[in-house]
Amino acid sequence: MTLNLSHSLIGESRETLQAILKTWEPYRIRQLFSWIYEKGSPNFEIMSSLPKPLRHALSEAFNLERLLVSKAQISSDGTQKWLLKLHDAHEIETVHIPELTRGTLCVSSQVGCTLTCKFCHTGTQTWVRNLEPGEILGQVFVARDVFGEWPSPEGKRHVSHLVFMGMGEPLYNYENVSKALKILMDPQGLRFSRQKITLSTSGVIPQIEACGRELGVRLAVSLHAVRDDVRDVIVPLNKKYPLKDLLEIVRAYPKISKTDYVTFEYVMLKNINDSEKDAKELARLIRGIPSKINLIPFNPWPGASYECSDPKRMEKFSEILKHHGYAAPLRKTRGQDILAACGQLKSESMRQSKSKLKACSETM
Ligand code: SAH
Ligand code: SF4
Repeated sequence: MTLNLSHSLIGESRETLQAILKTWEPYRIRQLFSWIYEKGSPNFEIMSSLPKPLRHALSEAFNLERLLVSKAQISSDGTQKWLLKLHDAHEIETVHIPELTRGTLCVSSQVGCTLTCKFCHTGTQTWVRNLEPGEILGQVFVARDVFGEWPSPEGKRHVSHLVFMGMGEPLYNYENVSKALKILMDPQGLRFSRQKITLSTSGVIPQIEACGRELGVRLAVSLHAVRDDVRDVIVPLNKKYPLKDLLEIVRAYPKISKTDYVTFEYVMLKNINDSEKDAKELARLIRGIPSKINLIPFNPWPGASYECSDPKRMEKFSEILKHHGYAAPLRKTRGQDILAACGQLKSESMRQSKSKLKACSETM
């Protein structure tokens, strides 16, 4: 395969397109933007509303190349996993989870992760780099291409929801993630409603407010523990941003972002965070915050020092939360046969390509 060294326009905002194409009239920029992001044009030639000389000039200098799918797998439950190659040969993974009424795409925001959550396989690997806006959008482009959803159809869609729950901490790559999100939410772009996008964070307090104010997407917080001494160990970022401060900003989030609830993610770790006392304390801590709780069965990986809680324990935990008025479903693990669940992807991908990958299981 020959490497195309021209500049990809996927990832460029309206403003940058205008800055790159200085002599173009604003309405021509709008047309180009819509051809790229609303219609998902694979090349410039088919942009029929643009005069031929302009199309030709674009083709000479730029491209609309997609991320290369190095491997595609489909699980018996319909979950799909794509291993995508970046221009510098690093690889990331994107997972599509179909459900009866919707389809969720789980996207990555970094290659690796700087944080070191003890139960997460990504956390045991060294961080490689932030993804560019075009590489974040590129994951959605791959899915839309596969399902032929250009422009995004009305009614039921294969890619109706996005969750930033793949590899990496999205709030540590805020600038690029927010550039991509603005294009994803643009009415002439990929047209995702902000209510259908969920950003998951392990608790990067300084960016949470900006995320709510500037982007207004749904927030998921990887809480995983109700006491600082436990969270300090399993989510070491807690030493910098402890529970009390984290919950204070999360409490304000629905108002800042104008969203109706936040989601708390809670990975069920045997004898670490799964007691009845923990469940009651969780209900107490989040009292007054409009929220849903996602209980995630821990997905083991080679060398992990944790085990998943017993099913009865998890049910009891969920019941206690329900009793306190919270929706607290146990997340079903999806795509297990193709290793597409949280913490599973990477081990297989490492064997195959030494890349540093992880993915997520079910949707929010
Ligand atoms: N960095 C962000 C988003 C990516 S992780 C964050 O931490 O929120 C997405 C979710 O998967 C997080 O809630 C994370 O804690 C969870 N997760 C990671 N490894 C897991 C594992 N082995 N089993 C179950 N859930 C896991
Ligand atoms: Fe990074 Fe999230 Fe994994 Fe923690 S759980 S190491 S923040 S990807």
